[in-house]
Amino acid sequence: MATRIPQQPKPKAWLSEKWTQKKIADYKPFNFVDGEGIRCSVYVSGCLFNCPGCYNKIAQDFSYGVEYTQQLEDQIITDLGQSYVQGLTLLGGEPFLNTPVLLQLCERVRKEFGQTKDIWSWTGYEWENLQQESEDKLALLSYIDVLVDGPFILAKKDLTKAFRGSYNQRIIDVAKTKESDEIVLYIDD
Ligand code: SF4
Repeated sequence: MATRIPQQPKPKAWLSEKWTQKKIADYKPFNFVDGEGIRCSVYVSGCLFNCPGCYNKIAQDFSYGVEYTQQLEDQIITDLGQSYVQGLTLLGGEPFLNTPVLLQLCERVRKEFGQTKDIWSWTGYEWENLQQESEDKLALLSYIDVLVDGPFILAKKDLTKAFRGSYNQRIIDVAKTKESDEIVLYIDD
């Protein structure tokens, strides 16, 4: 059977303002798997890439989970404040289709912690396509230190890769990539 490869959307075809329901599928404080160090992970609800073999299919539904509240945000900030926590991780679902929630959260994280906590995000968008996207997505990208890009592709599944499910995905150093004319990897394995 032929493998369906998730297509990248045309620029600005998918807009957060249309899709997000500001729902959180899960929040996992103090975990070791969603990036380097001890991290607090926010799993947003809703994704349109619909990758076959998606690791979190239930979170593709924009209405799944619980509402993002000020109380949850305060809890995330308190948890991030622990000295042993390295940073915040955004995943889902699709973070870049939930920008109203995540812009608010990232802005607060920078306000409270400056650059002392790093921010990682997963996305189904490939870096090159994200550059042509809407202002809210570029604004969210401006808060991200490390971006794991691209959809999960079942035919390229490789569980030996750090922090990725398939080998098309890249762990990108956002600041260095912006300074350069080419993608600079944060982890190259
Ligand atoms: S981009 Fe990620 S969350 Fe979205 S369908 Fe693909 S694997 Fe699932």
